[in-house]
Amino acid sequence: MSEQAERAAALAEAQLDTLAIRTGHQRTPEGEHSEPLFLTSSFVFDSAAHAAARFGGEEDGNVYSRYTNPTVRAFEERLAALEGGEQAVATASGMAAILSTCMALLSSGDHAVCSQSVFGTTNVVFGRYLAKFGVDTTFVPLTDIDAWAAAITPKTRLLFLETPSNPMNEVADIAALAMLARERGVLLVVDNCFCTPALQKPLALGADIVIHSATKYLDGQGRCLGGAAVGRSAEMNEVLAFIRSCGPSMSPFNAWVFLKGLETLRLRMDAHSSNALALARWLREQDGVERVHYAGLEEHPQHALAARQQRGFGGVLAFSVRGDRAAAWRFIDATRICSITANLGDVKTTIVHPATTTHGRVSDEVRARAGITDNLIRVAVGLEDIDDLKADMARGLSAL
Ligand SMILES: *Cc1c(COP(=O)(O)O)cnc(C)c1O
Repeated sequence: MSEQAERAAALAEAQLDTLAIRTGHQRTPEGEHSEPLFLTSSFVFDSAAHAAARFGGEEDGNVYSRYTNPTVRAFEERLAALEGGEQAVATASGMAAILSTCMALLSSGDHAVCSQSVFGTTNVVFGRYLAKFGVDTTFVPLTDIDAWAAAITPKTRLLFLETPSNPMNEVADIAALAMLARERGVLLVVDNCFCTPALQKPLALGADIVIHSATKYLDGQGRCLGGAAVGRSAEMNEVLAFIRSCGPSMSPFNAWVFLKGLETLRLRMDAHSSNALALARWLREQDGVERVHYAGLEEHPQHALAARQQRGFGGVLAFSVRGDRAAAWRFIDATRICSITANLGDVKTTIVHPATTTHGRVSDEVRARAGITDNLIRVAVGLEDIDDLKADMARGLSAL
């Protein structure tokens, strides 16, 4: 066996932390230790005949960075290994991953079933843009498996969900939905942005495709936009073909940032989870707090499922404060360490009022059904010292 084959064999048996650090980098003749950044839009050929062979596909290799780029490919290989998928396809953003997957796999006349509790913009992609091209979507409550089953028609091609949900931390039973999807001959697509493969492996639970907004925890430090779809090569090659032709490719620079982010993913996710659990337990005991929504708390309705399905409970929690919208705003404005921003998945803790920001455009009825009341606050817990975060929440509480 060649040394390269031996390295591949060693990695084939490796655990997540090793895969996150060692997959995807083939050293160039320069002998670099850290993953190189190929910041180039195109690639040169030895001759006209060589160019023709590359363009014609008789010879493998890079042509243009909208099609392939070695740094982007390294990120794709690393993420595919972490999710346990055959192939990953990187995209310009998380939304581009969702759109590209739908454009590649759905046609006019097809039907999709989507969780009601998805990222707001995902709702817009299904409800407005796919609808424009003749793809209808039925929205169902995330945790109601009978509603999922009832919504599937002979025209349904895919089921789409994210779990845990944002901001209420509802948890869907991925294995049960995967069984339903298989019985009915449809694809199950899971947005794994909140847990990442460090905490949850949807493909191992039977999902067909995993979606990522790499912008969040894969980067982990709030620098770059990116996304990915991961799954079997049959479907991923369709998604790749769409991206190559239509253009929502990942920037090589962003791929390089994400590649380095993945190396510390498991450590960060464990730290986010332990900080969030400690903060959720502390908030639960405070006078000004009505209710804390975090799947890591024993009283959460899907705590047992989350404990079985996830390796940790993640960094995002929501809680309602005693009072109205003005009280929630006073709480947020009184914090001095948290950043008031809707982003999440950052080492910096962020705080936001969902009813007037992330969920500001949805109807009052939909918001009420989702439990997003005017006194609800979402915190994406970062990696600052937990005592400092508690002190910051105490500043908020004293302003109620
Ligand atoms: C942020 C987010 C997206 C969209 O990702 P972008 O990178 O912002 O396009 C999709 N799904 C979830 C769950 C998200 O949090």
